[in-house]
Amino acid sequence: MQGKYFINTYGCQMNVHESEKLAGILRSRGYTEAESLETADIVVFNTCCIRETAEQRVLGNLGIVKKLLETKPGLKVAVCGCMAQKPGAEKALKKRCPFINIIFGTHNLHKFGEYLDQLNQKKYIGEIWEKEEGIAEDIPVYRTSGVNAWVNIMYGCNNFCSYCIVPYVRGRERSRNADKICDDVKRLLDEGYKEITLLGQNVNSYGNDLGGEINFARLLERLSGFDYKYRIRFMTSHPKDLSEDVVKVIAASDKLADYVHLPVQAGSDRILKLMNRKYTQKDYLEKIDMIRKYIPHVGLSSDVMVGFPTETEEDFLETVNVVKRVWYNNLFTFIYSRRSGTPADKMEQVDISVKKDRIKRLIALQFDIGNREAKNCVGKTYEVLCDEWKDGKAKGKSSCEKAISFRSENDVKGQFVQVKITGTKNNQLKGELVY
Ligand code: SF4
Repeated sequence: MQGKYFINTYGCQMNVHESEKLAGILRSRGYTEAESLETADIVVFNTCCIRETAEQRVLGNLGIVKKLLETKPGLKVAVCGCMAQKPGAEKALKKRCPFINIIFGTHNLHKFGEYLDQLNQKKYIGEIWEKEEGIAEDIPVYRTSGVNAWVNIMYGCNNFCSYCIVPYVRGRERSRNADKICDDVKRLLDEGYKEITLLGQNVNSYGNDLGGEINFARLLERLSGFDYKYRIRFMTSHPKDLSEDVVKVIAASDKLADYVHLPVQAGSDRILKLMNRKYTQKDYLEKIDMIRKYIPHVGLSSDVMVGFPTETEEDFLETVNVVKRVWYNNLFTFIYSRRSGTPADKMEQVDISVKKDRIKRLIALQFDIGNREAKNCVGKTYEVLCDEWKDGKAKGKSSCEKAISFRSENDVKGQFVQVKITGTKNNQLKGELVY
């Protein structure tokens, strides 16, 4: 028995899933999970650098660990993920926090077990691979995501949006072998998982690097062919790459969720060009219309950024226009955050008070849309996959990603149930079981 681990995860679903792999590796070495940082023998920081606030939180929490080391000198500390992968980050981190025992990047996560094994002989192990080297398969995974299981289908990104650090820390696009993905999904369904979320920075490019042997639409077809009751979701889609073929496959299958997360980021063509997004507002809205043509009841969500360098009030109103026109189920709103090393960092920045005002207006708009949309749902019945049940209170999501709470005397976690919407509270849907 090696002791207890505590993993601090920052950032996106990709990182959450990678923490499941870190936990899998730790458990394969005999570690068990600690209830808290204070009771851990090793703490792992799986970091994110997409926004400055994420990095500041990591540094703040490393400060807490430094204090803890005064009373717990045997505590081991490991730092990995996107923040560690940034050029020069390993040296800077080690200088700022000399107590760290292991630093490794995104390309060598699968080596974590070897680094753990070396801890007995070495005080410090720092290894960052500058380049990705294919795809490491068969990493043990310790899943903690309830009825949903995440499955990577690809890694990296080729898009270089001008504000984004991801291509610099995650490398170029690499697609996993389709047979391996199908085997993973089949095994997870055998184990009882009811929802599978396929992960990639840009899932619509799946297969582009596999020599034309397969693409995302064909992969979805294969993954929707298993003889179980389940749902497949995916994220994230780049609007320029979402094809009619993929949408038709979603429309034709009852296993593929009627939901598309399609990040628009901004509505102004001038800003979209500066962002290097490679589509215009018109292109984007045509994609939305195409999706709705095949899947009329589709749930749509988006990421929207305000305060991108040089954004004017006029540009912002174009974003407002898109949000009003699309009428999203969910909107993930962000204030642009500078990332050194990206082209947008060198552009003329927007004042923070202007950014804050715009995001407030956008959130208020989406709240109003959400409120009206929620009221429209009253009286309708949805098939809900229950992902939480306690003392008669249940929660779950419809295929089109509507979050619904309801009462059930029986524990229905992991079951698909029919729920009729009876009311709303603060945009939340409440319903009752239909037998
Ligand atoms: S598509 Fe753009 S925003 Fe998304 S990961 Fe790639 S570079 Fe970043």
